[in-house]
Amino acid sequence: MRRWFRHAVFLLAMPLLGVAGVHAESDPVATAKAVRMLDQADQIKHADFDGFSRMLQDIEPMRGQLDSASVSKLAFLEGWRATWVGDFDKARALLEGVADTSTDTVLRVRALATLINLFGIAHRYEDAFRRLNQMQELLPSVRDGRARFAALGEASQLLSSAGQFDAAEAYAKQMVDDPPVGEGECKGMQHLLRARREANRLVTIEPMYRSAIDACDSSGDTVFADTMRSDIGSFYLHHGQPKAAIELLLPHRDDLRDTSYATLLAEFDATLASAYLAMDDLPNARRLALSAVAGSVRDEYTDPRRTGFKVLYEVEQRIGNAQAALAYHEQYMAADKAYLDDISARSLAFQIVDQQVVARKAEVDTLNKQNEILRLSNALDHKEVETGRLYIFVLGLTLVGIVALVLRLRRSQLRFMRMARRDGLTGICNREHFVEQSERVLAYGARSDRGACLILFDLDHFKNVNDTWGHAVGDEVLKRAVDVCRRALHACDVFGRLGGEEFAVLLPDCSPAQARARAEQLRLSISATSATPSRPELVVTASFGVASTLQCGFELHRLLVVADGALYRAKRSGRNCVFMGDSGDIPDSPYPVAASG
Ligand code: GH3
Ligand code: MG
Ligand code: MG
Repeated sequence: MRRWFRHAVFLLAMPLLGVAGVHAESDPVATAKAVRMLDQADQIKHADFDGFSRMLQDIEPMRGQLDSASVSKLAFLEGWRATWVGDFDKARALLEGVADTSTDTVLRVRALATLINLFGIAHRYEDAFRRLNQMQELLPSVRDGRARFAALGEASQLLSSAGQFDAAEAYAKQMVDDPPVGEGECKGMQHLLRARREANRLVTIEPMYRSAIDACDSSGDTVFADTMRSDIGSFYLHHGQPKAAIELLLPHRDDLRDTSYATLLAEFDATLASAYLAMDDLPNARRLALSAVAGSVRDEYTDPRRTGFKVLYEVEQRIGNAQAALAYHEQYMAADKAYLDDISARSLAFQIVDQQVVARKAEVDTLNKQNEILRLSNALDHKEVETGRLYIFVLGLTLVGIVALVLRLRRSQLRFMRMARRDGLTGICNREHFVEQSERVLAYGARSDRGACLILFDLDHFKNVNDTWGHAVGDEVLKRAVDVCRRALHACDVFGRLGGEEFAVLLPDCSPAQARARAEQLRLSISATSATPSRPELVVTASFGVASTLQCGFELHRLLVVADGALYRAKRSGRNCVFMGDSGDIPDSPYPVAASG
């Protein structure tokens, strides 16, 4: 299950390769061996991951003898390892410990760079930008060239993904201009190229990129070379040269397939698929589009996934297979929406954190000005009273201005945070926020051994509403359905819009029988209410699927899968009814079958 995660980490964490270790103070002799082992583990962690893991295990029993610097280093390496194997919680706890408490600036920056990587992959963009900001503050005091280089790479990549292309380019240029010993132009150029391509600033492929690819190839950094090829291929494709894109990418695809960089392979495949489509080679377009989609199955937010579905849709359409075309088109729309949502989540997160930073600086300014006023008024002697008063007056005015600015920033900060968490149409949790809240509730349920249930529901024949009455009425119906449900929910329930006309409710501390009754209540409430006040004759219904932690455990993903299965059966059996998730494991569930419609 975590293969995708591991691939992504490996690809993104490459710049950290071989960053030199920190040396602990060498007081007790007993720690000397452990310190040596720590440095060695640090150096081999990419080249020999298993050996690296074994070394960490060997060091563990010596933990008691380690001085605090070595304990931090051990925590960093364990956090790095947890990132690598996809253990998000463990990695986060360890790396945050190092980033927040270590006294070694280089180690802190390395922990922050790994954390930024971890949060980026887990789509936790607000956390990523908060840590980026912290890392930016430390960077000027970092002398270790390799740690600095790796940190610049992470910064450039994250900023570029959030649409902050100027800053991303500036970091990449620092990498190009001042690489540490042993690094050439390869990695810096790769980040520069990606930032420029994502910003649509490439007018032509300059020779410097070609020579950077050669540099990457000859230093053995094939992934960086291929990442640049992927960008150039995509440039060719979008500038009407599909053949050039194919000629560039195809010869390297097989080698790439043999490595484990699934995300990059999916990028190649998506570009190749579009290029073949542009050249009317439908069999190859289909083959590569299927591969792009399969390669990004775990990551529903990616560009290759949406491109893959788009190509599949167009292929089927061109050969006149309307049904398959329609099916792919729906998947394309869903993937496109998820991808665009993810992009806006990234730039929203950047803005939220940016605002917070500005607000904090303004607050510090306010305090400084207050202190200055205090100092001045104390120091005033009689002769300077007049000028002093004037000065205080001016400072006072500045202070009022700053306070007003802080208040304004606070307000817009709150607005951004609400936007990031709420669904724009209905005002309930959006998908990301629902997932976050539900996971918190489920974790609490698991600790206190209190079962919870998940209700998933979807409005019936909603497309007809749009088709018959128009989209605006469709929107009104969605809002109305949400209002009706809200009235029937408890304060502790988590209610979210998962997308389109599909909603979910997580009920904490709830048995399957209670959940079924609650779902039934929601079903009746929706079907008993006219869908809009302006059209009393318009009534909508919804179908429901219910899952319980008794059968699925406390993992949200599993609950969603089981509830979705039940919802599907509810739709198949005529809609406007409630189905329980497969209740085979529940000893005394009285509701194994559907309620009447
Ligand atoms: P079923 O009973 O099988 O669920 O059929 P359905 O018509 O409800 O389902 P389908 O998935 O075919 O159509 C869902 C429609 O919901 C398609 C899409 O245009 C519409 N939709 C999605 N989001 C919104 C929205 O925010 N506003 C409006 N008005 N329509 C939306
Ligand atoms: Mg529907
Ligand atoms: Mg639906």
